[in-house]
Amino acid sequence: MERMEEKEDFQKIPNRCTFCRGTLKQGKSDFIARVEDEVIVIRDVPAFVCQQCGEVY
Ligand SMILES: [Zn+2]
Repeated sequence: MERMEEKEDFQKIPNRCTFCRGTLKQGKSDFIARVEDEVIVIRDVPAFVCQQCGEVY
């Protein structure tokens, strides 16, 4: 059930990587945020990771 509809829905996680069209797999990733002098690392954040290029969603 896939349709080529383009909607402004940024909250939706794509079924495939938008860069390389690789398969996304649910896993965990480290989220690193940099706020001026501070580096905040949040570990084991649930995320979808591309199996091909490693892009995190
Ligand atoms: Zn990818």
